[in-house]
Amino acid sequence: MLITVEDLEHTYMEGTPFETRVLNGVNLEVEEGEMLGLIGPSQSGKSTLVQYFNGLFVPRGEGRVVVDGIDTSRRGADLKALRQKVGLVFQYPEHQLFKGTVGEDVGFGPRCLGVSVAETGERVNRALAAVGLDPEIFRDRYIFALSGGQKRRAAIAGVLAMNPRVMVFDDPTAGLDPRGRLEILDTIARLHREQGLTVVFVSNSLEDVARLADRVAVLAEGRVVKLGSPVDVFSDVETLGRIGVGTLQTVDVLGRLRRKGWEVRLTALGVEEAAREILRAYRARMAGQASPAVGGCTGGAL
Ligand code: ADP
Ligand code: MG
Repeated sequence: MLITVEDLEHTYMEGTPFETRVLNGVNLEVEEGEMLGLIGPSQSGKSTLVQYFNGLFVPRGEGRVVVDGIDTSRRGADLKALRQKVGLVFQYPEHQLFKGTVGEDVGFGPRCLGVSVAETGERVNRALAAVGLDPEIFRDRYIFALSGGQKRRAAIAGVLAMNPRVMVFDDPTAGLDPRGRLEILDTIARLHREQGLTVVFVSNSLEDVARLADRVAVLAEGRVVKLGSPVDVFSDVETLGRIGVGTLQTVDVLGRLRRKGWEVRLTALGVEEAAREILRAYRARMAGQASPAVGGCTGGAL
């Protein structure tokens, strides 16, 4: 197991009138090579939790977080090594870019680690190519000349240039236009597929998570309240409804049809899949009725 979280608790501003218990016994495992989606209502502690994955927070009480053999609850744990293993891409990472060129920015992390100029140059080229920014074109461009989606990809390249094993993205598509959003989603999918990176993907977009994740964890009430495949999680309309995140539009439509007596399954997450499921159920209904409800319709069209 690459990351193991056991009974993790987190309280902000402990001992003050503003004390807030955010995590209250989180248990979670992240497997090597997977893409784990993390969803939950806003303010449920998603950003807090992922900061434990790279040692920005370390357990102070009972809980434990072990990342690739490094137990962060132990005194003297090698947090410097941990931060190289786990790259954390914050919300709006482009706010942390400097004003210089893309190449300078992406190479900043490795240079700080003492990586040679030559090796840093190679890492910059590799990282830029991996996020879909041609190094020949973008290395010497100024940051301010990039589009929103390109800036964000440059920021991701800066984290990638540290050669992490795990990349954690905290709401990576927030605030982007539809095109920038697709660019980022495509970049994350490629990093996972082509570089074999383990990815943890926090998102407020259930659609994005359904599209990318191998497994989905749902954080609410300070705990992981549901964990499973996208189909398992998104078809559990009751749990998602109770904690207030709702479900996918597709599953919502299927659920409404079901309540009207249609025999549809809630396991079709994609739009085309859901359309096929509705068509299948429609045809079954038509075939089962002596006289079709829609005059003259043979079920060939919806
Ligand atoms: P999410 O990412 O799911 O929206 P967060 O982890 O950002 O949730 O926040 C969870 C709760 O912790 C919120 O109520 C938030 O106000 C509080 N919180 C987050 N960061 C701090 C902080 N630095 N100081 C005090 N409270 C905080
Ligand atoms: Mg957050």
